[in-house]
Amino acid sequence: MNSGESENREGQTQGRGGLRGDYALVNGRVHTPLGVVDALRVKAGRIAAVGSNLDTSGAREVFDLMGRTVFPGFTDSHMHLMSWLESLEILDLTPCRSISGLRAALREYAEANPDKDFYRARGWNETSWPEHRRPTRHDLDDIFPDKPVVLIRVCGHVAVLNGAAMRFFGLGEAEPVEGGLAERDEHGEPTGVFAERALSLIYGRLPRPSLDEMREMLKKYGPLAASFGLTHVNSEDMGPFRADFRKLLGFFADAARDGTLPFRVRHQLNMPRQDVLLDFLSDGLRSGDGGPMSQVGPLKLVCDGSLGGHTASLLEPYSDSPDGDRGIASFEQEELNQLVRMAHTSGMQVATHAIGDGALEMCLNAIEAAQGVGRPMQMRHQIVHAQIANDAQLDRMKRLRVGAMVQPMFVPSDRDMAVERLGKERAERSYRWKTMIKKGILTSGGSDAPIESPRPLWGIHAAVNRQAPGDDRREPWMPAERLTIGEAIAMYTWADAWQSGNEQRRGEIAEGRDADLVILDDDPFLVPRSDIWAIGVAMTICGGRVTHASSSLSGGV
Ligand SMILES: [Zn+2]
Repeated sequence: MNSGESENREGQTQGRGGLRGDYALVNGRVHTPLGVVDALRVKAGRIAAVGSNLDTSGAREVFDLMGRTVFPGFTDSHMHLMSWLESLEILDLTPCRSISGLRAALREYAEANPDKDFYRARGWNETSWPEHRRPTRHDLDDIFPDKPVVLIRVCGHVAVLNGAAMRFFGLGEAEPVEGGLAERDEHGEPTGVFAERALSLIYGRLPRPSLDEMREMLKKYGPLAASFGLTHVNSEDMGPFRADFRKLLGFFADAARDGTLPFRVRHQLNMPRQDVLLDFLSDGLRSGDGGPMSQVGPLKLVCDGSLGGHTASLLEPYSDSPDGDRGIASFEQEELNQLVRMAHTSGMQVATHAIGDGALEMCLNAIEAAQGVGRPMQMRHQIVHAQIANDAQLDRMKRLRVGAMVQPMFVPSDRDMAVERLGKERAERSYRWKTMIKKGILTSGGSDAPIESPRPLWGIHAAVNRQAPGDDRREPWMPAERLTIGEAIAMYTWADAWQSGNEQRRGEIAEGRDADLVILDDDPFLVPRSDIWAIGVAMTICGGRVTHASSSLSGGV
């Protein structure tokens, strides 16, 4: 669901100049922990006052919200910012409805970009195509005999390469690809379709943007993220920085300093090896370090793969694989224990990617063991995804005070696949955000962009409706797990502030908090639930600075 980011790119920079320093927003619906009030005052980047019939005398500017709705700025608890920016640069194939449509889109793209020496695209999905098959190299070789072309499927787990790309990656026609799925046709010829582990060879060697190119992408598309209402994202970007945490932190510190960052970023640092983690810790770095715009977050560890790719680590075998396959855990238990203990005892939070219940079990074992060593509860460790979790595991998360960083948009995207992989009964023990919240697990919302669009209103919509944005024809999946609007908004505001240790500064609209705000054209509590995704973001404010003002706003913002 990475489509449609482009239609919103215009109008983001219009008419910003006025609201600066000391100003008041009046005549709105301002949601505070104590109820809805009509105004707030911003001074020096903070919320100076909140209330109804507020005294605005002395404010440099008074802006009439004309009944619009104000929430704390939206957050994303897990995404890949640089990969998302990169995904906006490459050709989007999600609108293609057939192989011939795909070929036409590629021709057009090539004509518009003759200078690129490598063509990348993503988003194809053959399931509803009239040809009823995947594209192969034969669909590409006649258009692109010499230039490498890589087309990644919508799921990110399958790609098709043309002959030139196979040569570029050294995936010769004769040699088998180690550990991977390289599809062959009935004559034994490679079709150019690669999946899973064969794909990681390709991903690892794709040409990557330089630091300067990344800076340009951030400048170009950062305002797009702000236009979604985002003021804070938790992002895992070690890949694009070739696993160099110093380079990553330096890049974002520069972007914070020169004003390129229109939202705050907290870094989830993927460091799966003890020597790298030790090197990091010996620089004196810990969760919470950094400035207000770029902050060191948790140690991120990826403990299994994906459900779609049969690589999520499960306690019981997959329902749709005949050989009793239970997926792949990325660590041995002891290895994981050591990494988590090293982080925990040094004052680093840990956020572990666990999709399957097998991986979740290992993560909870590691966290419980580390808590036994010291600093029992204050580290606020998190599980990213926590998709498949039985009741005992959820109770254990609550007991260990481990939070969840979940992706509500996965619900509509994964529902059919999850039932295939897990069987109906086990699938219904999955993606249970309401159960988690009821059990008292602190649960925040994110997108895992570029897997899903990082629009928080789409995530809120999916959490409330258990349906895809704009599709209320299909019945909600597991309707008992639908969240209230208040619960869903908390996932994208307050829960993130708490998980990131910033709850004294952000997450609620109250005096003294940072002026991180999103102003919506309509109030999600008042529109029909099926329309939440389509609510317009009129303005986004980060630390008092207007980072997005929609062209629909009048009145000289
Ligand atoms: Zn991720």
